[in-house]
Amino acid sequence: MERSVLDVEQTRQMFLFVARAMVEEKDYLTKLDQAIGDADHGIGIARGFESVDRDLREAAFDSIGAVLKKVGTVLMMSMGGASGAIFGTCFRGGAVNLMDVDRFDSHALALLLNDGCSAVKQRGGARAGNKTMLDAVIPAASQSTELAQAPLDQALIAVSDAARDGMENTKNMLATTGKAKTLGQRAVGHIDPGAATTYFILKHMMTFKTRIEPQK
Ligand code: ADP
Ligand code: MG
Repeated sequence: MERSVLDVEQTRQMFLFVARAMVEEKDYLTKLDQAIGDADHGIGIARGFESVDRDLREAAFDSIGAVLKKVGTVLMMSMGGASGAIFGTCFRGGAVNLMDVDRFDSHALALLLNDGCSAVKQRGGARAGNKTMLDAVIPAASQSTELAQAPLDQALIAVSDAARDGMENTKNMLATTGKAKTLGQRAVGHIDPGAATTYFILKHMMTFKTRIEPQK
């Protein structure tokens, strides 16, 4: 297998790695949600990704889409709350055009992010600038489209950088969706927790691909 591509088994390992790393983000994400929400985002994310870890550990999959669909379904079932539906929808929507695909490359990354982004918009009704996870997903998705032919390492580095910038930009936004909307001006100055989660997921995917030797 060429180095810029992951096969289905390596993709399962990548999301196992992401799941374990996301559980470690629990306290930081909770702190972010304490500032502008109800302080449960880290708890939901940790619960969701503990379930993903459990469910991916023993499972075998026959496509990239099947791995992503499983991640989304498990998040949706285990997390609850607005973000269980949102992140579950993102992975399940992102899986749709990858059900017959057996290589995770930059093109697959672009399908995951663009289809996931559209599904979240449709499901939750939020748009760019509403101070949600979409403000990290949208720039990540457009970066992935630009790099759909690039080596996967390069695409993941650029996409996670774009998500980080998007996350940082949520600091300046007024919240108009979700629990933070009642805060008005008081939400300004704080990062949106879901945007941080989006960045962390992509960062951990990038770390797995660039620093960890995927096992065959
Ligand atoms: P809850 O809002 O139920 O407490 P969480 O605290 O787990 O759920 O997650 C909040 C995050 O969910 C927000 O920071 C935001 O990024 C994301 N979110 C909420 N509603 C939407 C929506 N309609 N579209 C996109 N993302 C959303
Ligand atoms: Mg919350």
